[in-house]
Amino acid sequence: MKIEGIDLFYVALPTITRTADGTQDSLVVRVRTDNGLYGWGECDASPLVSMAAYVMPMSHSNIINISEALVGETLESPGDVVRLRRKAGEFGLDIQQLDHAVAGADIAMWDVLGKHLGEPVWKLIGHTESHKKLPYASVLFGEDPAETRNIATSIARKNFRAAKFGWGPMGRGSLKDDVALVQAARDGLGPDSKLMVDAGVIWGDDVDAAYERAVEFADLGVTWLEEPLRTEEVGAYKALSDRVRANGIKIGIAGGEGADFYRSADDMMTNAGLDFVQIDVGRIGGITEARRVADRARELGIQYVNHTFKSHLSVAASIHVFAGYEEFDLTEYPSGDSPLILGLTAPTGIFRDTEGLIEAPSTPGLGVEVNLDAIRKFQRRVHIEIDGETLFASPEP
Ligand SMILES: [Mg+2]
Repeated sequence: MKIEGIDLFYVALPTITRTADGTQDSLVVRVRTDNGLYGWGECDASPLVSMAAYVMPMSHSNIINISEALVGETLESPGDVVRLRRKAGEFGLDIQQLDHAVAGADIAMWDVLGKHLGEPVWKLIGHTESHKKLPYASVLFGEDPAETRNIATSIARKNFRAAKFGWGPMGRGSLKDDVALVQAARDGLGPDSKLMVDAGVIWGDDVDAAYERAVEFADLGVTWLEEPLRTEEVGAYKALSDRVRANGIKIGIAGGEGADFYRSADDMMTNAGLDFVQIDVGRIGGITEARRVADRARELGIQYVNHTFKSHLSVAASIHVFAGYEEFDLTEYPSGDSPLILGLTAPTGIFRDTEGLIEAPSTPGLGVEVNLDAIRKFQRRVHIEIDGETLFASPEP
C-alpha cells in the first residue's frame, strides 16, 4: 500500500471566543492510500499554522514540508510508520512546528495501517491487551462558585465518577476565591468522586502561590493540581513538588500537556518532580512519540495520562497509546457541548460502558470514523497562493 495523498481540513465553529476551550476548531488530517483506504488524525494546534507545515515551499534541505516527505511512500507495517515519522522529522528538521503538525499525519497513518492489516492500533504499537480506563469529565470552571457547582451537579447526574475543573477564574482572585471554586466543584460532585484541578499555568513561576493552593485543595480531596506553573518552569515545578512531598501534603502534581516534542516531556518527567504526566497525542507528534513517553513514564514510576480537548478522534488516538498499561487507569474525556467536536465522529465515538469505563476499541485502526457531513458543515475554505499560483486549496471531504 502506498500513500496517495494527504488532505487537510480546517474545521471551526462559526464564532470563536477567548475561553480556554480547545473544542472550537481543529485541524483534521486524512491520509489516502492507493488501495482506497482512508486514515484520520487530528492536531491540537492552530489549524492554519500547522497546515503550513504540510504545504509550504522548500527553503533548503532541512525545511521540506510534511506532504513531500510522506506522499508516494510505502506503508505496510508498524516499522513503516516509525520510519515515515522519522523521515518527516528529517525533512522538517528546522521547522519548529514540525512535531506539533505531523501529529495528525502520524495518527492517520496508524489508523489506515490498522484498517489495512485488520488490527486495532493498540496491537500495532505493541500492546497485548486493552485495559479499561476511568474517564474523567473535563470541563472549565464556571464564572463563580454557584455556576461551578451547577456544572459539577450536571456531571454527577451524567454518572461520571471523576471530573476535572480548569482555567476560568482559577488563580485570578484570592486564595479564598480559589478555594471557594474548588469547594463548589466538590459539593456538586459529592464526596466520593475523584476531583482534579487544572490551574492553567496561572501562577507562572510563583511556587509559594501554587503551594498555598496545593495545601488547601488537598483538604478537599483533590487528586492532582495540574499545571500550576508554566511548562518551561521546570525548576519551579521541582521546588513545588519537593515541598508538597516534604510536608506530607496529599495531592499529586500534574503537567506536561505543553510538551510538543518528546524531549520536552522527558525533561519534565526527569526534572519537574511530576506525579502525573499529561501528554497530548495531537501535540507531541502523534501516537509514535506519545507511546515513547508512556514507556518512559512507566520506567520512572510516573502515571501517564492523556491530555485531550478535541474530538473523539483524539480521544481514541489517546487511549490506544496506553491501552496496554493497566496501572495508567485514568483518562481525560472532553465533556463540553461543542457541536463541532460532538459531530466530527458521530455516530461513532469512545463511549462509557455500564460501569462508566472506556477502552480502546478492538476494531481495525482507531475504531472511530469521521463524519463527512460534519466536515462539510464546519469546514473553513482555505486558499493559499504564491505569485498567482495555488499552493493549497481546501479539498472536498
Ligand atoms: Mg490542562
